[in-house]
Amino acid sequence: MDDNTRNTRAVDLLIIGGGASGALAALGAVSEGNFRGSVEIVEKEKIPFRKLLASGNGRCNLANLADPRGHYHGSRPSFVNGALFRMPARELLSLFERLGLMTFVDHAERVYPRSMQSKSVVIILRRALSDAGISVNADVGVLSVERDETCFRVQLSDQSSVRARSVIVAAGSPASPQLGGSDSGVSLLRSLGHTICEPLPALVPLRLRKHDMMSDAEGVRFRGSACFESFTGVRSPDVSGEFLITSYGLSGIAAMELGLFVSQASRDSRSRGARGGRIPAEGFRQGRGEQASKDSETAGEAVGKVIIDFLPEMSSESLRTHLESHRAHEHMAAFLSGVVPEKIARVILTSVHSDPHDPLRCIAETAGALKGFALEVEGTRGFEFAQVASGGAVTDEFDSSTMMSRIVPGLFACGEVLDIDGDTGGFNLLWAFSSGYLAGRSSARYLTAR
Ligand SMILES: Cc1cc2nc3c(=O)[nH]c(=O)nc-3n(C[C@H](O)[C@H](O)[C@H](O)COP(=O)(O)OP(=O)(O)OC[C@H]3O[C@@H](n4cnc5c(N)ncnc54)[C@H](O)[C@@H]3O)c2cc1C
Repeated sequence: MDDNTRNTRAVDLLIIGGGASGALAALGAVSEGNFRGSVEIVEKEKIPFRKLLASGNGRCNLANLADPRGHYHGSRPSFVNGALFRMPARELLSLFERLGLMTFVDHAERVYPRSMQSKSVVIILRRALSDAGISVNADVGVLSVERDETCFRVQLSDQSSVRARSVIVAAGSPASPQLGGSDSGVSLLRSLGHTICEPLPALVPLRLRKHDMMSDAEGVRFRGSACFESFTGVRSPDVSGEFLITSYGLSGIAAMELGLFVSQASRDSRSRGARGGRIPAEGFRQGRGEQASKDSETAGEAVGKVIIDFLPEMSSESLRTHLESHRAHEHMAAFLSGVVPEKIARVILTSVHSDPHDPLRCIAETAGALKGFALEVEGTRGFEFAQVASGGAVTDEFDSSTMMSRIVPGLFACGEVLDIDGDTGGFNLLWAFSSGYLAGRSSARYLTAR
């Protein structure tokens, strides 16, 4: 027996990644009554579920009960239907309830553990995995996967290797590397012949060009709506909700929803630079995630502007009428403070013509600033601060009703490693859980049929 053989073990199903989708994949596999095979999860971090623990500010917004249509993005958003039809949010909640987790639904149909602690979700999942006899091999990363005639040969970072009859890649995305995010999942899938759409930071704060708003109103939260317009003329849809002004730019849930559009504009600007010979051209490769992260962290040219509407509930016309009827130009500072937080009011005041003797101009400019305050955007804060990544393995190469690869039989993928990203509000974890469960069940059926 040589060293290689001694360090090689055989399992029926190997799951790469012990996060949200990997755990549900394992539970999905053992839920198939006829399946008697062995299941192992390999997780590169010492502590599994790090992202899940950090999710929802430690409260874990684990699903959303709203109609999922329009809440997912990627090259083929309808791909989510395969998993969400088989395990919609309500069924996911029933599953969690059977495992012992009580949940709470808020006014926006966001689902949280009743304890409002992500730890509860992790404790329940750990217990369910251990009850099902599933081993989680933590602190061991998968380095490579190869397919031969009979099985997958998986090389691990602890010098051992696994022969697996089926493999599920549940390795997530490069978002939040400090919580285990990495692009190794997409690299493994690419090495097996899959096409990768370059991952970009999405749901990520925006870096703005220096402006008084950031120094004078740092730490101020406001409600409003905004859109991003790139300098090449691409305009995002409007997003509404809470924004937070920071020393570097704009954060808060609504601002983060503009992150993907800014990432795309930065990528386009990089590739234009590359064509012009300023930046070396390179295709996607392992580490390109780092490239996107670094590029967006370095100060540079603005890629567009974020246009803020501080009063989305009022049209420009009715705002002007309102300002005129209140003779706002005579006491503009006080008037503005009644509309927006005082520090923002002061910045707006310095940016408009506020001569009380020129009321028409004063009112027109103030209304314009309240309805469309433009700030230049330099980029995003990169993968380090991103909650999810857009891009990943192209979904056309997977069967949405099973999550199995159309290229490599016996290979499955689920969660964020695929080219699907969701809106905030629980849609990303819903996708990770539902697609994981489907991949696990399908893999068990695939193995049982052989
Ligand atoms: C701060 C933060 C807050 C969030 N809050 C929410 C929220 O409230 N609601 C919501 O819906 N979504 C939220 N998200 C997004 C959500 O957490 C992810 O979309 C989800 O965890 C993705 O699940 P996944 O299983 O695909 O990937 P992950 O949960 O990232 O799991 C992948 C696992 O694979 C492991 N891995 C990677 N490569 C390898 C390898 N080569 N070998 C072995 N293991 C490997 C990683 O270490 C990781 O543990 C949040 C994300 C962040 C970062």
